Amino acid sequence: LAENLAKAERYLARFRREGVLNYINGEALPSLDGETFETISPIDLKPLAKIARGKAADIDRAAKAAKAAFAEWASMPGDTRKKLLHKIADAIVARSEEIAFVECVDTGQSLKFMAKAALRGAENFRFFADRAPEARDGKMLRGGNQINMTTRVPIGPVGIITPWNTPFMLSTWKIAPALAAGCTVVHKPAEFSPLTARLLVEIAEEAGLPKGVWNLVNGFGEDAGRALTEHPDIKAIGFVGESRTGSMIMKQGAETLKRVHFELGGKNPVIVFADADLERAADAAVFMIYSLNGERCTSSSRLLVEDSIYERFTALVAEKAKRIKVGHPLDPETVVGPLIHPVHEKKVLDYIRIGREEGATIAAGGEKFDGPGGGCYVTPTLFTGANNGMRIAQEEIFGPVLTAIPFKDEAEALALANDTQYGLTGYLWTSDVTRAFRFTDHLEAGMIWVNSENVRHLPTPFGGVKSSGIGRDGGDWSFDFYMETKNIAFAS
Ligand code: NAD
Repeated sequence: LAENLAKAERYLARFRREGVLNYINGEALPSLDGETFETISPIDLKPLAKIARGKAADIDRAAKAAKAAFAEWASMPGDTRKKLLHKIADAIVARSEEIAFVECVDTGQSLKFMAKAALRGAENFRFFADRAPEARDGKMLRGGNQINMTTRVPIGPVGIITPWNTPFMLSTWKIAPALAAGCTVVHKPAEFSPLTARLLVEIAEEAGLPKGVWNLVNGFGEDAGRALTEHPDIKAIGFVGESRTGSMIMKQGAETLKRVHFELGGKNPVIVFADADLERAADAAVFMIYSLNGERCTSSSRLLVEDSIYERFTALVAEKAKRIKVGHPLDPETVVGPLIHPVHEKKVLDYIRIGREEGATIAAGGEKFDGPGGGCYVTPTLFTGANNGMRIAQEEIFGPVLTAIPFKDEAEALALANDTQYGLTGYLWTSDVTRAFRFTDHLEAGMIWVNSENVRHLPTPFGGVKSSGIGRDGGDWSFDFYMETKNIAFAS
């Protein structure tokens, strides 16, 4: 740990010294009104850096730069874009340690996971880079005495708004396909964890991305975020964040008829039948809720267990939860680090109190943890004896808190699983293949894993139903969002 702390300090020195500026049209710039805000580390709550606080005027500048750069970037051959995006991926790999260390200190996520997340960011670039040359390809459709040619063209400059939980990886997931499609970008990262977005745009610049193609404006949702969603030159908004923010963005974007793509909250069930491989299911359930501090949209925050194995299974999960190492995010052994911010820590601890008041039982954790630095540590928590009507079973806590509920048969399991406003992911554990087909067909979720934790395959669609999102990305779905489909009919 001591060695990692010294390394982190070296990587953070520039941020402490220079702060984080916006990046517009190839230039690092303070906000027009000179305002800044401070970001703190969740490890010790001490300030990390001063961040430029962008407002509507800065967004306007960035949107104009993105608009001016659009024609040239959009008409660049796909092969050239492919090479550039691969260079960005190479540079991410070369700087992956720096990215991971900065991310850990800025977010409280553990190095164990952030080292991989940095490399996943590079993979996202490679994946979409390889698809850039064919992104415009469409179909020929013959009808009557016409030949129809469908093709796709990039929609224009787009706004990308990201949350604080795994900011680096998520930013690459949204920005790489936009660039591959031929769009130019204005990125507004989350105010709680803005550091790695700056590294990312710097990497892109060094890789040779033309000026104005990728712009970064920091700031708060209510001014910079809002201005981005309202700007007439921005043709679409790719947003990842809370469901209620998605709803605000929809209203804000209505005037300019913004195309929107939303990846929102979840209250994802993991459903365990008595015929499942219980040891594997318990490991996966523990991984899905406690990894990434439970600050993960796809986390399995509701554990639905067949009542014949409920006691045994929840005891197994409790035992595993108690063994999880909570600690400094830069300690290579740490699984759960501090939560992002005292405001969020309070929200999570409030839910733990609410769960107790609602009558659920704490089977593991349930308290603040006095971790290194004295920051926002909360122990991995399991509630048993809960029912699906409780707030801890209905509302997104976005922390290391799992709520276990028994069910008596398949029909009840399905009813409970679907009884939430959300529908992002579901995890089903059973050895009965017929049941798996039947159950998943009726489960209201955009993504379902059977006998597995969340393992992403990039060509597959990612997204949620109900209040968990609108639209899909991944594979060609990302291009459908960032591009317009156009039909040209030729008389034959
Ligand atoms: P948030 O909605 O509070 O903020 C997300 C971003 O939106 C931030 O950059 C914020 O500044 C901006 N924002 C806030 N108000 C805005 C407004 N009025 N107009 C424009 N922008 C605005 O979310 P958060 O707390 O940063 O992140 C946690 C949430 O993100 C959770 O609900 C989680 O489930 C969700 N999430 C979803 C996915 C997914 O893929 N479905 C992935 C990660 C996180």
